[in-house]
Amino acid sequence: MEPSTCSKCGVSWVGADTCPACGSAPAPKKEEFNQASRTCPKCGKYVRFVPSIVVWYCDNCKEYVG
Ligand SMILES: [Zn+2]
Ligand SMILES: [Zn+2]
Repeated sequence: MEPSTCSKCGVSWVGADTCPACGSAPAPKKEEFNQASRTCPKCGKYVRFVPSIVVWYCDNCKEYVG
């Protein structure tokens, strides 16, 4: 198991979800999709990725984007 590092106090620990020193949760690991990297071909606004159905979605057009 990889150690977590507290973004507040800098303490490293293994096992728990929250920092044993100050109780805050560690910063999430950088495994998330780059959500601001695509824009809608119709309106040019940023689209968001919907991981559950693996598509990009434009909130402005209310359509899925390829
Ligand atoms: Zn802490
Ligand atoms: Zn759009």
